[in-house]
Amino acid sequence: MSFRVFAILFLFTGSLAQAADPPEHHSESTYSNPFVTAKQGGLFGIIRARLSKDWQAYDSERDRVPTAIPELIAPEDASTNATVTWIGHATVLIQHQGINVLTDPMFSPYASPVSFAGPKRVSNPAVSLEQMPPIHAVVISHNHYDHLDVASIKQLGDQPVYFVPLGLRSWLEARGIASSQIREMDWWQEETIIISGKTLRVTATPSQHFSGRGLFDRNETLWASWGLAWNDFQAWFGGDTGYNDQQFKEIGARLGPFDLGIVPIGAYEPRWFMSTVHVNPAEALLIHRDIGARASMGIHWGAFVLAGEGVLTPPIALATARAALGMNTEDFDTFAVGETRHYEAQAQFASAIEP
Ligand code: ZN
Ligand code: ZN
Repeated sequence: MSFRVFAILFLFTGSLAQAADPPEHHSESTYSNPFVTAKQGGLFGIIRARLSKDWQAYDSERDRVPTAIPELIAPEDASTNATVTWIGHATVLIQHQGINVLTDPMFSPYASPVSFAGPKRVSNPAVSLEQMPPIHAVVISHNHYDHLDVASIKQLGDQPVYFVPLGLRSWLEARGIASSQIREMDWWQEETIIISGKTLRVTATPSQHFSGRGLFDRNETLWASWGLAWNDFQAWFGGDTGYNDQQFKEIGARLGPFDLGIVPIGAYEPRWFMSTVHVNPAEALLIHRDIGARASMGIHWGAFVLAGEGVLTPPIALATARAALGMNTEDFDTFAVGETRHYEAQAQFASAIEP
C-alpha cells in the first residue's frame, strides 16, 4: 500500500471514528454528567440523608409560603414586555408575543409514582390548568416526579408542543401525546415553533443532574436546561441542576445574554449528598453570572420538601449570598407563589431568528 493510500485510509477511518464518537454525556445505555467525578449516594444515600439531623422539621413552615394573585394575560395582549408568572416549584408561565410557554408543568398534590402518597405539596399551584391560557410550548427538564407529572401532561394533552430531553419521547407517547407534538432533543439541538407569525426558538442546553422514576431506570433518559428565544426577549430555564464552572459559562457564551434566568435555588441540603445535583442559592448566583442573565428568579422551593433545608430557607440564604456578592433583588429575586412580573424586551436578538 502506498503511503498516500494509507494516509487517506487513515484519515478516512479517523474521521469515521470521530463521527461515531458519542458526545461525552452519552454512555452505553444511559447518560452521565461530564463534570462530576464523585458518585451520587443512591438509595442508601437518600435514606442516610433523610435520617440525619441535617434534615429539618418543616411542619411549622408549611402555611407560611408567600402567595400572590397571578395576573395572566390574554394571548392577544399587545404588551411589548414579557409576562412571567411563578405557578409554583419549577412551573413557570412565560407569555410573550402571544406565545405561552410552560416549564415543567406540575399541578398535582404529590410528587410521587402514586397519586395519594409521597412528597406532598406545602403550597398549591397558583392556578389550575383549567385557568391557564392556551399553552403553545412546554419544556421538560427531566423525568423526576416533581418535574414530569402524568396528570398534568394528560390534562395538557396535544395542545402544546413538548420539548423534551433524549429518551422521553416514548414516555409521552405512552401517555397519549401525539408524536407530531413532541420534539426530543440532545444538548445544543434547537427547534423553532411559529405561532401567529411569531417565532420561538427553543434550545436544549446542558445541566448537571440525573434521571429516573423507579429503581431500575437511573439515567436512562437525559436531563437538560432550556434556552427560549423570541426575537426581542430571551430566557433560560435551569430545571434541576448542580453547579460546575463550565456548562453554564458555555451556555452564556453560546446563547447569552439572557433577559431572564429561571434558576433553581432549593433542595440543596445536606451538601454531602445534594451538591452534585442541586445548587444552593450561592451557586445559583454563579449560574446567573455565568449565563449572563440581566435578572434571575429563584424557583424549585416552597412547594415540596425534597431536601434537608427548611421550606422557607432558600430565599433567606439567597439574600445572604446575594449581599455577599454585592448583588440586589433586581439582579436575582424570588417571587411569591402566583406572582406575575414583567420583563422589558430589548430587541437585541432580532438577527438571531428568522421570522
Ligand atoms: Zn430532579
Ligand atoms: Zn426537582
